[in-house]
Amino acid sequence: MKRGLLIIISGPAGSGKGTVIAELMKGTDEFCYSVSATTREPRPGEVDGTSYYFVTREQFEEKIGRGEMLEYAEYVGNLYGTPRDAVNRSLDAGKHVILEIETQGALKVKEKCRDAVSIMLLPPDGKTLRARLEGRGTEKADVIERRMQTAQREVMKLGRYDYIVINENDSPEKAARDIRKIIDAELMKTSRNLDFKEKYFD
Ligand code: 5GP
Repeated sequence: MKRGLLIIISGPAGSGKGTVIAELMKGTDEFCYSVSATTREPRPGEVDGTSYYFVTREQFEEKIGRGEMLEYAEYVGNLYGTPRDAVNRSLDAGKHVILEIETQGALKVKEKCRDAVSIMLLPPDGKTLRARLEGRGTEKADVIERRMQTAQREVMKLGRYDYIVINENDSPEKAARDIRKIIDAELMKTSRNLDFKEKYFD
């Protein structure tokens, strides 16, 4: 069984990550979405264990203490982290695991797992990003401002990612297709297929 690909997808709030990832995963069981733990309050419609594992700060810190987190980061006042075991189990089962995480965590994973593929998903420009954040209507004005400032810092880290994908308005399908192309090319890298030459003439 060939180990799956670890795929990191980052993008500021409002970049449309959720929709694009849902589109990417539609109609195939090749992928596994890593469910993170967070101390943030659930938003309407979010389900514990599916959207996130919603935990208290104390519970989160215990998980860190037990070494259960592959990475974690503080983002706009809340902790977010990736449970390590679930990721490893899915990779071992040959699934491509999607980590939808912010930039600090993404860079930590890249350091630990050199063969992870990192992608930054961005709206075409900052104005579009702001419009999407305001349009969502779930956050207060001060939260939007903080998220815009965070977004600026995140975009500055673009050069540390392997790939950029632009999420044009109304076309999550296109962004999902672009990510699919990246994955397909990554899977064809010789460095991921060196075992091929051993068994080629068997
Ligand atoms: P939100 O509160 O909008 O769901 O997520 C805020 C940010 O935290 C997003 O950029 C999201 O990708 C990121 N995030 C979600 N889960 C994790 C995680 O496990 N680790 C890290 N580092 N970031 C995460």
